[in-house]
Amino acid sequence: MLYICKKIQPVDNKIWLSSPHLGGGEQKYVQEAFDSNWVAPLGPNVNGFEEDLGKYLQDNVFVGALSSGTAALHLGLILLGVERGDEVICQSMTFSASANPIMYLGATPVFVDSESDTWNMCPVSLEEAIKDCIVKGKKPKAIIAVHLYGMPFKAYEIREIADKYEIPILEDAAEALGSTYKGQKCGTIGDIGVLSFNGNKIITTSGGGAIVTRSKELKDKAVFLSTQARDNAPHYQHSEVGYNYRMSNICAGIGRGQMEVLDHHVGLRRAMHSFYETYFKNIENVIVFSEPRDDFYSNHWLSCIVMDSYESREKLRLLLESENIESRPLWKPMHLQPVFEMFPYYGGNISETLFQKGLCLPSGSNLSERDKERITAVFNDFFRVS
Ligand SMILES: *Cc1c(COP(=O)(O)O)cnc(C)c1O
Repeated sequence: MLYICKKIQPVDNKIWLSSPHLGGGEQKYVQEAFDSNWVAPLGPNVNGFEEDLGKYLQDNVFVGALSSGTAALHLGLILLGVERGDEVICQSMTFSASANPIMYLGATPVFVDSESDTWNMCPVSLEEAIKDCIVKGKKPKAIIAVHLYGMPFKAYEIREIADKYEIPILEDAAEALGSTYKGQKCGTIGDIGVLSFNGNKIITTSGGGAIVTRSKELKDKAVFLSTQARDNAPHYQHSEVGYNYRMSNICAGIGRGQMEVLDHHVGLRRAMHSFYETYFKNIENVIVFSEPRDDFYSNHWLSCIVMDSYESREKLRLLLESENIESRPLWKPMHLQPVFEMFPYYGGNISETLFQKGLCLPSGSNLSERDKERITAVFNDFFRVS
């Protein structure tokens, strides 16, 4: 009887892992773009958004607004001199967009395992990979390190190795705007940094990204390449291959509004993480992914847990799904992906184990008390808490 009653009740809205959360100020900037007819991949919002980001990141960086984080990674590799046949080291546990641009350039990805504190690039495996590449006659051209789920990677350890072998770091901070390591903002830690403003990220421009550089010259070069590499001439003149990667002035308007609420939304994401920490405090066999030390400050873009087995993880995931609540296994490592499995890999099975047992939970800054009640009800059911 109870089950029949349950079925005929209206279905609750879907609870997403991470959905866009607008602050209210976005439309003003978009309206300005329409009013002034700057409906193009340049204009006052693009410049303004770059300034807002630069101020937020501090540290005297130069920001170029682009059409996506993937485009920023692609241009970042080009600016670091990566060419066909080069080797590029990449964190294996990441989203495929970290690795795809290596392929665009005809370079070879060399994947490196994670360590268990931050789930990010393991410094020991990184050095092993570099040494082996050198022995085989090819020093890697770049290291792509990722702040997964907003958790900063071990920046000092990775930097020490990068400097020892004189290899630049391309910092994939797509998930980590608002996170810091030893007080330094993620996005400013690498030789070049990358941000994403896709719909599911901590702030969104509907789709977009940015490249963060240490020099105006590099930023100008990125913008030049992103706008079809047009030489300074009255006619269309090109000496280099260009790309159409610049951010539109409409999207940048959304971004300017989002910057007004960024810190507030980081606080709300961190509150979601606290909600899960509190819930799982007394539940055995569930670990909530948290900062290992005070040096790390995560925006907790996604809250994640690790369970005792693949089977229990799947059971919980399916139970959430049956209640219209989205969750997702932790990102499948690149060295296990059909498209990348033929490339070299260094490390053990940390990332593979995380993929087996880990789950990302609804983490949006816009989740309501009712949403949290629904999530809690599923957990209570699963963990038999009354
Ligand atoms: C989202 C994401 C990207 C790509 O950003 P887009 O703006 O979607 O192209 C790259 N790396 C990581 C780790 C991401 O999560």
